[in-house]
Amino acid sequence: MTNGEPGRFFVLSAPSGSGKTTVAGRLLARRPELVYSVSFTTRPPRPGEVDGRDYNFVTEARFRNMIKAGDFLEWTEVFGRFYGTGRPWVEERLKAGRRVLADLDVRGGKAVRALMPEAVLIFMTPPSAGELRRRLSGRRTESAQELERRLENAKAEIEASHIYDFLLINDRLEETVNGLEEIIFQGRGRRMAEAGAWGPVFFHDQESG
Ligand code: ADP
Ligand code: 5GP
Repeated sequence: MTNGEPGRFFVLSAPSGSGKTTVAGRLLARRPELVYSVSFTTRPPRPGEVDGRDYNFVTEARFRNMIKAGDFLEWTEVFGRFYGTGRPWVEERLKAGRRVLADLDVRGGKAVRALMPEAVLIFMTPPSAGELRRRLSGRRTESAQELERRLENAKAEIEASHIYDFLLINDRLEETVNGLEEIIFQGRGRRMAEAGAWGPVFFHDQESG
């Protein structure tokens, strides 16, 4: 069954610790018609994460078999762990005219851009690098070494984010959720092309943060 509208694929990317899971979770609770693409991963679940809701947690052997079988729309390796988007699941929802939201890293965003030029790519960041560090350490889910790696990775992700359509700054949570809702349901938001050089501003408070 379709609702007559074309389906649309939305990719939300953000440096780890930006609040992407929190923001996406709030919007999904508010808009049940929006469906979330539950990725497959080989990393272990964090406390509170539920298999089949947050991720499909699988072994590396199963993941490799899925790659061979062509079961992924795209997949990537981050911090030594595998992550992938289930192809049949997403394609079915798009065919049914649904809006599908996927939480991917920027490599995933780039892959989606090449596969589906009509997909909408949204890049989210906290207001500054100092705030990113505070949120990551406040979450207490990474070792100190992993935290530094995630901060390093954030730099590369921000540099690569120019291919995205929209920029969403996660300062106040409620406003960010509203902003994401507007982009997805009204096609309105801050265009990356008009955001200017925000990267240097983002890293400016690194020392003072
Ligand atoms: P991600 O999914 O991007 O890695 P999370 O959703 O786990 O990030 O958020 C990282 C931490 O930042 C969490 O502790 C979360 O509660 C907090 N957080 C999220 N959004 C905000 C916000 N707008 N202001 C302050 N803290 C936030
Ligand atoms: P985390 O371990 O913090 O949940 O996720 C680490 C990174 O992997 C995040 O940037 C997240 O967006 C990304 N990610 C999660 N699932 C997928 C996926 O299926 N494909 C890609 N390319 N990235 C993913």
